[in-house]
Amino acid sequence: MEKTLSIIKPNAIEDNNIGNIISRFEKEGLRIAAAKFTHLSKEKAEGFYIEHKERPFFGSLVSFMTSGPVMLMVLEGDNAIMKNREIMGATNPEEAAEGTLRKLYAKSLEANAVHGSDSPQSAEREVSYFFDTNEVLGRF
Ligand code: ADP
Ligand code: MG
Repeated sequence: MEKTLSIIKPNAIEDNNIGNIISRFEKEGLRIAAAKFTHLSKEKAEGFYIEHKERPFFGSLVSFMTSGPVMLMVLEGDNAIMKNREIMGATNPEEAAEGTLRKLYAKSLEANAVHGSDSPQSAEREVSYFFDTNEVLGRF
């Protein structure tokens, strides 16, 4: 069983799509192994996206991610990391396949509804960045 970090971004929360997104994960065989609502501080958002700190969109991305609440989740299942990336679709919603979460719920390239870890290394880092061991199912 693999674990991955998922974030429902502020635009999808504003648009009332939390249930639609979680329901999709469950239908696709992923389990919600941890979940919490939070409002990220600037420091927490910057640390999360540290790999992008030299990119021109970094400041705007951090502003967006701190513009409203987010829902942080750990998804668990067979091949959860790649399965979640497939369900999400391409980063740019204009390039995302029909039926993917980003095609359905993104507002823009930046406000693209969901985050998902992209490798086992990033999943490990991202899950432990937001969750203590005793907050994740199977580790209570
Ligand atoms: P992904 O979230 O698909 O892994 P990246 O890691 O490349 O994509 O980028 C992180 C996030 O930064 C994206 O999900 C999106 O919100 C934002 N982003 C990426 N590229 C751009 C861009 N060119 N302009 C504005 N925002 C961007
Ligand atoms: Mg990424």
